[in-house]
Amino acid sequence: MKLNHIQQEEVLSFAQQLIRVPGTSGDEGQVASLVNQKMRELSFDQVHVDSYGSVIGTIKGSHPGQTLLFDGHMDVVPVREPDQWSCDPYGGIGSEGKLMGRGSADMKGSLAAMIYAASYLNRDEIAGTIIVSASVAEELIPGRALESILDTFPADAVIIGEPTELRLGFIEKGRCTIGMTAKGRVAHSSRPELGENAIYYAVNAIDRIKAIPLRTDSVLGKEVIELVEIRSTPSPGNGSVPDSCWGLWECRILPGENEQALLERFLNSQKDTNWQEKIHFAIETIDIPCYTGKHLVGKDFLPGWKGDEKSRLFRQVTAAIEKNGIPLINWPIPYGCNALASCGLRGIPTVVFGPGNVELAHRPNEYMEVRDLWKATEIFGSIMELNGAFA
Ligand SMILES: [Zn+2]
Repeated sequence: MKLNHIQQEEVLSFAQQLIRVPGTSGDEGQVASLVNQKMRELSFDQVHVDSYGSVIGTIKGSHPGQTLLFDGHMDVVPVREPDQWSCDPYGGIGSEGKLMGRGSADMKGSLAAMIYAASYLNRDEIAGTIIVSASVAEELIPGRALESILDTFPADAVIIGEPTELRLGFIEKGRCTIGMTAKGRVAHSSRPELGENAIYYAVNAIDRIKAIPLRTDSVLGKEVIELVEIRSTPSPGNGSVPDSCWGLWECRILPGENEQALLERFLNSQKDTNWQEKIHFAIETIDIPCYTGKHLVGKDFLPGWKGDEKSRLFRQVTAAIEKNGIPLINWPIPYGCNALASCGLRGIPTVVFGPGNVELAHRPNEYMEVRDLWKATEIFGSIMELNGAFA
């Protein structure tokens, strides 16, 4: 697909409009109505808003073929440092070939590119079905909104438009948070021998967890098991030996790890110690209220994944990239995203591909190169046009 000047302006202008309606996680209502309105204006065959507030637009081709789903999240992270911005983070300002603003790179630019690419298709020539989903709450609970979308709109393959600087994201670490609870016995702190200090149990347990051998993947590098929070009760603790201590472990896991096996590694680390019985582990549950009032709830365990370079999707996306004259670069994705649900949990062939640099995301003066925005639109369009070209 090749954009003309009018189309370039259309994509850029819609990306700017999206940036001008902030939409942090759980508050994407205005972004959703803008997307909904735009998809209708662009004559998508069907536009659906699900109970969590994600907006799903469908374009039906004229020939039989697979269903390809393009996903972009609508939510952005809040602006916590407005004084460090050189422009209005929600101004949607274009300057010197850059589109500035919160969400320009992560990932409203990409979302605009997907929506317009689908609208520019010649439907008489298209095979299968093209779905564009604008999903909610990815920044707080990756994957769960997309899972719900996939329940209603089953897809044969998924393209996640997160920023990859137009490289092909083909492998990703999974994520999991594990809560650790140490149980002791409360006592007056003047007579600690009458109690059992839960913090001491926790400290011992932490040392053992830190000694768990970390696995390495030749592409993704080492897995991560990191303690990120600790709390004890009673709090404030003056006068009492604490009877409970809770810690939160964040894990970035390699493809192949499953829930049970990961928990067992934690449990085994405490084996044959005299505090073993005092320590409990559980995978955390995340509960995020959506702007519709419904809650997205899910266990915080999403497996990692690795794509198959011989698959139809990879060949289709590779051909689209090459057709548009940019080098094909396979890229290990350093962050967690909705692909953890589509490929990690569901095993649906998935790639991550989009404009923008993730190192600029979540930071002051986030921007997107406008030429990459246009190039991404053309490549998304070519992927859609090639639907049906590969067996
Ligand atoms: Zn993102």
